[in-house]
Amino acid sequence: MTLSEKEILSKRNYSRSEKVLSNEIGEYVKQIFSPVQGKSIETQIDEMVEDFSQAFLIADSTNTNIEIEAIIKNFGDSKIPAQPTNFESYFQSLNENVVAHSIHTSAPQFIGHMTSALPAFVRPLAKLMTAMNQNAVKIETAKALSFYEREALAMMHRQIYNLSDVFYTQHIQNNQSTLGILVSGGTTANITALWCARNRSLGANNEFLGIEKEGFNAALNFYGYKGSVVIGSELMHFSFDKAADLMGISTKNLIRVPVDSNNRVNIKVLRQAVADCHAQNLHIIAIVGVAGTTDSGSVDPLEEIAEIAQENNIHFHVDAAWGGPMIFSRKHQRKLAGIEKADSVTIDGHKQLYLPMGIGMVFFRDPHIASSIEKQASYTMRKGSFDLGKRSLEGSRPGMALFLHAGLKLIGLNGYEFLIDEGIRKTQYMAAIISAMSEFELLAEPDTNLLIYRYIPEQFREEITKKQLSEEDNQLINSFNERLQKMQRKIGKTFISRTTKTTICLDKEIPVIAMRAVIANPLTTEADIDVVLNDQIQIASEISIRY
Ligand SMILES: *Cc1c(COP(=O)(O)O)cnc(C)c1O
Repeated sequence: MTLSEKEILSKRNYSRSEKVLSNEIGEYVKQIFSPVQGKSIETQIDEMVEDFSQAFLIADSTNTNIEIEAIIKNFGDSKIPAQPTNFESYFQSLNENVVAHSIHTSAPQFIGHMTSALPAFVRPLAKLMTAMNQNAVKIETAKALSFYEREALAMMHRQIYNLSDVFYTQHIQNNQSTLGILVSGGTTANITALWCARNRSLGANNEFLGIEKEGFNAALNFYGYKGSVVIGSELMHFSFDKAADLMGISTKNLIRVPVDSNNRVNIKVLRQAVADCHAQNLHIIAIVGVAGTTDSGSVDPLEEIAEIAQENNIHFHVDAAWGGPMIFSRKHQRKLAGIEKADSVTIDGHKQLYLPMGIGMVFFRDPHIASSIEKQASYTMRKGSFDLGKRSLEGSRPGMALFLHAGLKLIGLNGYEFLIDEGIRKTQYMAAIISAMSEFELLAEPDTNLLIYRYIPEQFREEITKKQLSEEDNQLINSFNERLQKMQRKIGKTFISRTTKTTICLDKEIPVIAMRAVIANPLTTEADIDVVLNDQIQIASEISIRY
């Protein structure tokens, strides 16, 4: 007797439902996984979480002033409980111990980091993402999502490179082509870009199988190089140190070229560095241009870097993790001129695309360059398949494409343009009032929506205007600013971050401690900026100049 497919299925369902877990724990575990009985537990938890989230999102302080030591004391238990914890008490303690002391990144007066408020649609989407629980590594665990992800990446690619309709029709859903890779952040995106650049430039030919199969030493030997380097501005993000370390070229061979007074890479020195490497027989994996430095938001002269890379036939990577979304602004996109000549571009979704943490992207001008890092596995990821995991550093990966695609569709070009333009407009407002106030000194004209400045204690204000500050005065101002920033963070009403910038003082390079404002939160108004600066003036009045 043969069973029909339908009978096999119903038989299987029957035997599965019969296999009831007998004991109490089994019942409980079954219940928390069950989609139909979810109402009782899931709805209750949902209601609690909704309350916590609302309270969290409307808080106007940036932080609670609890000491770090007190938080650490709450988390010293390394034993897993034998019995399941009552979920109500668990979620209560989660709220009291974690949510309550988390940073209000969406607060309008939290203007010191690249993390800000998110659009409302991401929270329900996050629920859908975990309900679907797709694994974007392969088609067998992520069907429609794989093509949906490729579509979202193609939309971003088109905004950067603006190639022809024919190009996009040909590559958007072609399993041989990779317009971009969705990763967990800018770090992974930068590593992926340099990985492709390395494998492509030390690739296979008739006599050599390529660096991927033969290794780094064999590649240097074969091509006759003494070593490999990556060249970029001294303000390159520290993810490039990670990349240099992982690629085996050493962080010493990440060549950091000095910047000018506006924090843009010095082109003359960059050109010389390329020539020096050639003279020393060093292989240049890539030249990196930064579009929006993490420190000050400055944008390197991409057009000129592209020219140097092209002349020397070197991979040109643009790290636009922060500044990339300026391509949405007709007013500001010219600052990124030259980005379309890059061989690869990094953009973070969780920064200025206003998407939740965990979305980075790398884009490629040549849709076939990622084949240089392609891997196969026998159980899946077969050649010619649509599996996204074969050309990504990460393996199992969540359906974060949901957020990217929704952001591009629900916010659109005009929405993103508005967000970018507003951030830069408010930063210019802040720069103008800082310049007009004797309490502060603007440390660089802002390129984008990052601003660096510092507080000047009263007794130094005259020297500052006459530019007669001694090195010792500068040190006193530095330690004052450091204490001011720490105190402001501790009080937790408003927030500005801190960085160090080198400046020339009487022909000597000296470090300057700077306040760093990031104006990206759409909820931040001019009035909020005033409050933050007044908060700093108030705190400064309570700090003495010497310890
Ligand atoms: C944030 C940032 C990175 C790193 O991105 P993550 O998402 O934090 O990994 C790299 N480069 C620049 C310019 C950045 O601003």
